[in-house]
Amino acid sequence: MDMGRSEKNFSSDMELNSSPQVDGVVTAAAGMPEPDIHVVTSSGILIPAHSKILASASSVLENIIERPQKRQSSDRKIPILGVPYEAVSVFTQFLYSSKCSEEQMQKYGIHLLALSHVYLVPHLKQRCTRGLAKQLTIENVVDSLQLARLCDAPDLYIKCMKLLSDNFKAVEETEAWKFLQNHDPYLELEVLQFIDEAEMRKKRTRRHREEQSLYIQLSDAMDCLEHICSEGCTSVGPYDMDPTKHKGPCSKFSTCHGLQLLIKHFGTCKKRVNGGCSRCKRMWQLLRLHSSICDQADECRVPLCRQFKLKVQQDRRKSDERWTLLVRKVSSAKAISSLSLPKRKREEDPRMAMDHQDMTSFKL
Ligand SMILES: [Zn+2]
Ligand SMILES: [Zn+2]
Ligand SMILES: [Zn+2]
Repeated sequence: MDMGRSEKNFSSDMELNSSPQVDGVVTAAAGMPEPDIHVVTSSGILIPAHSKILASASSVLENIIERPQKRQSSDRKIPILGVPYEAVSVFTQFLYSSKCSEEQMQKYGIHLLALSHVYLVPHLKQRCTRGLAKQLTIENVVDSLQLARLCDAPDLYIKCMKLLSDNFKAVEETEAWKFLQNHDPYLELEVLQFIDEAEMRKKRTRRHREEQSLYIQLSDAMDCLEHICSEGCTSVGPYDMDPTKHKGPCSKFSTCHGLQLLIKHFGTCKKRVNGGCSRCKRMWQLLRLHSSICDQADECRVPLCRQFKLKVQQDRRKSDERWTLLVRKVSSAKAISSLSLPKRKREEDPRMAMDHQDMTSFKL
């Protein structure tokens, strides 16, 4: 694959060609044995090096070094071409010390990534992947993406894709993107697909969050229902409790208040469920939902709880999948909210076990 424009066009002649003319020589560090090999760079500058060190740091260089020579020569050369001399110098230095500075990374990161990939130096590749990810901008993200794909650097690739899809409007305006559109339609397609999927993911998350909040509302309603039926709230309470005893609003009062109004309506409505009253139907569903998630046997004080349980036992074979799923989701939302909120205090009195489980069990 072609890396593209002008000075970035280093990948196509990355292969190890025979060396061009050689003029400059860089001296190796003191205290080392004499260098026995020269790295040849594109600018013609030679970097003296030790074949043992190069070979131990890179298996690709090892193969090249150990390849039988055509001509017996004391002056051994190993070409590393297609990137600026300075980048080869930093690369060679890294093979010796496993180190390079932030500044070097900033200047030659893309070249070093390519070199680390071609010469199989995983340490350096990791370093470059991290370094380049930190340097990503709207301007360089397209080139970095191409490089990440070319050099098989999945971390960098994903980071580029994310930045691209979050800032696509701006990236679209860059020269690099326009160039890519003209020269690499496959990568363009890959990017557009990624953006599409990212949007789908976002939509799914949003939908999931909305659903989740619905289940939490239902789970709150279940809490309030139990609380109204066992201890009473501001205006509705169990039939056997003193209605004059003034109670302040509870912690979930907005839900609780709505439910109290619904209970009052349910107790007095003339149309009722079978008459097609939608509010009664809603109350009915809430009572049924309570019964489905209620784990108290006989001492439960919520109206119709026992009746619904009996009914479920009778027609167990006709299980309704959607209902079962709803029950499961509300139960898990309830479990989650009970972990995060202190449980409401309940003064449960076994003597108050309910006899008639219908609306007469309320004081409205
Ligand atoms: Zn309440
Ligand atoms: Zn009604
Ligand atoms: Zn119950």
